[in-house]
Amino acid sequence: MSARRFFVGGNWKMNGDKESLGELITMLNTASLHDETEVVCGAPSIYLDYARSNLDPKIGVAAQNCYKVAKGAFTGEISPAMIKDCGVDWVILGHSERRHVFGECDELIGQKVAHALESGLGVIACIGEKLEEREAGTTEEVVFAQTQVIADNVSDWGKVVLAYEPVWAIGTGKTATPEQAQEVHEKLRVWIRENISEAVADSVRILYGGSVTGVNCKELAGQADVDGFLVGGASLKPEFVDIINARA
Ligand code: PGA
Repeated sequence: MSARRFFVGGNWKMNGDKESLGELITMLNTASLHDETEVVCGAPSIYLDYARSNLDPKIGVAAQNCYKVAKGAFTGEISPAMIKDCGVDWVILGHSERRHVFGECDELIGQKVAHALESGLGVIACIGEKLEEREAGTTEEVVFAQTQVIADNVSDWGKVVLAYEPVWAIGTGKTATPEQAQEVHEKLRVWIRENISEAVADSVRILYGGSVTGVNCKELAGQADVDGFLVGGASLKPEFVDIINARA
């Protein structure tokens, strides 16, 4: 088993209200979570303060997005400075829904990564191919190109976690097989070794995301280059605890 600390992120997306998220928070605060796993919950921006105030301090909180500058006339956006001001230490950037529903391009995601890191946030940076790209045999090309843009904007890899999330597996119930996940994670780590550094390749956590459940998590967690998960739907349910404890 690798020395990389297992990392499980929950991505609540645009779900829940104070009542239901409060119940989820109570469930997490009272559950028996494996100490070795780093847990971070991605809350809707309007509930970041609520999540941070109510979750046990050992559980991290992440924003699901942020803008590329600290302040100004950007109606509807939130900045890393505001996220930090709520006591929140992480942000998810480049999620496939930001890329494909809201049209965020690599360049913008790169700028956001740079600014979030400069502001002292940790970044969960997401990458992943669409179904047609996988079918066309361009998975690696797509994943490496997305990672290159992120890498161009990273100063301190100690604050970055990569999340490989094949778009065809997100919210579809179609999980990548453990072999499919391991294959991309392993190739990505080789790419990082060749294009960034040995040290980063050895230390950076590469999460898998896309229809992870309490049932499929253990086998995925057993893959050598799968260092954790980014979990959508199942992060809103009690099975999230089983996913957190997948390596326990
Ligand atoms: P899912 O979402 O677990 O619901 O497939 C994963 C994600 O979007 O991070």
